[in-house]
Amino acid sequence: NREIHLASRPQGWPTADNFRLVETGVPTPGPGQIVVRNQFISVDPYMRGRMNDVKSYVPPFALDAPLDGGAVGEVVAGGGDGISVGDTVLHGLGWREYALLDAGSARRVDPDLAPVTAYLSVLGMTGLTAYAGLLDVAAMRPGETVFVSGAAGAVGSMVGQIAKLKGAGRVVGSAGSPAKVARLTELGFDAAFDYHDGPVRDALKAAAPDGIDVYFDNVGGEHLEAAIGAMNLHGRAAICGMIAQYNSAEPPAAPRNLALVIGKRLTLRGFLVGDHGGLREQFVTEVAGWLREGKLSYDETIVDGIENAPDAFLGLLRGENLGKMLVRL
Ligand code: NDP
Repeated sequence: NREIHLASRPQGWPTADNFRLVETGVPTPGPGQIVVRNQFISVDPYMRGRMNDVKSYVPPFALDAPLDGGAVGEVVAGGGDGISVGDTVLHGLGWREYALLDAGSARRVDPDLAPVTAYLSVLGMTGLTAYAGLLDVAAMRPGETVFVSGAAGAVGSMVGQIAKLKGAGRVVGSAGSPAKVARLTELGFDAAFDYHDGPVRDALKAAAPDGIDVYFDNVGGEHLEAAIGAMNLHGRAAICGMIAQYNSAEPPAAPRNLALVIGKRLTLRGFLVGDHGGLREQFVTEVAGWLREGKLSYDETIVDGIENAPDAFLGLLRGENLGKMLVRL
């Protein structure tokens, strides 16, 4: 069994030295426990925050201990709570080849209903984040103009497509490369731009000349400032993530125009997907339907081998992924 440990806490941008590949034995299950051979692990931006030793909504990773995160795999030993050997399960102990956990903390998934990776992406946490953030937190209404940053990523690509499916008038996305921008157009975005090409404010004005009603923020900083500037009266922003500042040691310089929130009567609302589990059933039913009907596409970037998981994480922060970043073990 090989697993990835946090060897040291990154200062600013993480490097390969912050991680260590460690060999341990394959665990043996106790009563009510299962051993899962992980097949795919999720690689997520929020892990960067957990590498700092600060209080947050999730506890920090411990040094010299395995990282964790979403994973799917096959139960190879043990059982309990209706789960037995041979089942495919979703659970929270990724970043290792074999996971030992209480059966009650795993959820059985059906590998015949969807590819198992979907339970970590479109039908999983990132899909629900997009669905809940757009429809519940920002309460998007048909006809509205929606702007989403990080639009070619796991969450962002779902936000844009769900917005179109729910009748948005215009959907604009920003992303970090020409190839990603081209992909957004294929996915049905009405307009998309590469934020490296110039000020976000100018690109957004060109893409949404009549302003925006909803902003789904994955990036923060200059993107959030531009969105506040472009918002129409009573606009709403779902504040999902601020990846532009996860590796910076300095506080962000933007947004500088927060006072506009008053005159425009804007709502900026942060949220955590974990609080929106009540929507899961509705989300799965609706998204699975769109997938079946071919109305929704999802991209995955798959890196092979537990030893390459740190590189996958560093690549995610650098924007090397299209859609959901996963590691296949
Ligand atoms: P993504 O698949 O979107 O991957 C991260 C992407 O961020 C990269 O591909 C990169 O794309 C982009 N990025 C990196 N640095 C910058 C930067 N400085 N400026 C602009 N874009 C940048 O990840 P997820 O879909 O998993 O997550 C998206 C966001 O949602 C993150 O902020 C994450 O923390 C947040 N999140 C929040 C949740 C919640 O409950 N609130 C739950 C899940 C995710 P590019 O090439 O375009 O730069």
